[in-house]
Amino acid sequence: MNIFAVRFIMTNKIEIINKLLIEHFGVPPKAKKLPDPLDTIIGTILSQNTNDNNSYKAYRNLKDNFKTWDELALLKPFQIEKYIKIAGLGKQKSNAIYELLKNLKKTQSKVSLRYIKKVSNEDILNELTSYKGVGVKTASCVLLFSLDRNVCPVDTHVHRTLNRIGLVKTKSPEKTFFSLLNKLPVGTAHSFHTNLIRLGREICKAQKPICSICLLVEICKYEHKNFETTKSNRASSFMLLDNLS
Ligand code: SF4
Repeated sequence: MNIFAVRFIMTNKIEIINKLLIEHFGVPPKAKKLPDPLDTIIGTILSQNTNDNNSYKAYRNLKDNFKTWDELALLKPFQIEKYIKIAGLGKQKSNAIYELLKNLKKTQSKVSLRYIKKVSNEDILNELTSYKGVGVKTASCVLLFSLDRNVCPVDTHVHRTLNRIGLVKTKSPEKTFFSLLNKLPVGTAHSFHTNLIRLGREICKAQKPICSICLLVEICKYEHKNFETTKSNRASSFMLLDNLS
């Protein structure tokens, strides 16, 4: 099968999954105003290995104490760490934020990422991931949430659910991301990404999926489906990156 046929099939499958997810969860709300790319990258760094509520509190601590990111750039990592403790991994995250701001100052002569608005997806991914502490997921969140590009960031929920469903067969979130890149039907990335996270949090959980209530059961290829009647706990639907302004 040639590359175009593979892409066509994948795009159709995504369309079907996206429709079923919307039937169940609805169209997820989007931020009214796209956040600044630097807001998104800092928010995403803060969100690593913690929940959206704690990372939002850490993000607010920064926003409420510093008028601009230039002001934050004057701090040393241990000083930044004090403001973001609640999000965990304080040392690692404060170092990543410090390095990012320092490098932007050096390469762009100002603490801003606005210049990327006219840059291609591939170039943005290459450039942002060259900064220490910024991985493909963080860079792809900037593409989706700040630039409204049709790309689907892949976290552990998106990676796990798509592998269980059988849309991809990949060993890491990064590989899943690149399998999806340029294959999403136009305008589907935000709902696809957000609803897959809800699916992973509420139904297709890491330990034991609750297949008896899953909307995708007919098309899912997972071999170890669980049909015990377990109650789904409605997880918080708060999404940090849609609430940064
Ligand atoms: S059917 Fe089960 S394994 Fe498949 S996506 Fe739904 S919850 Fe996950």
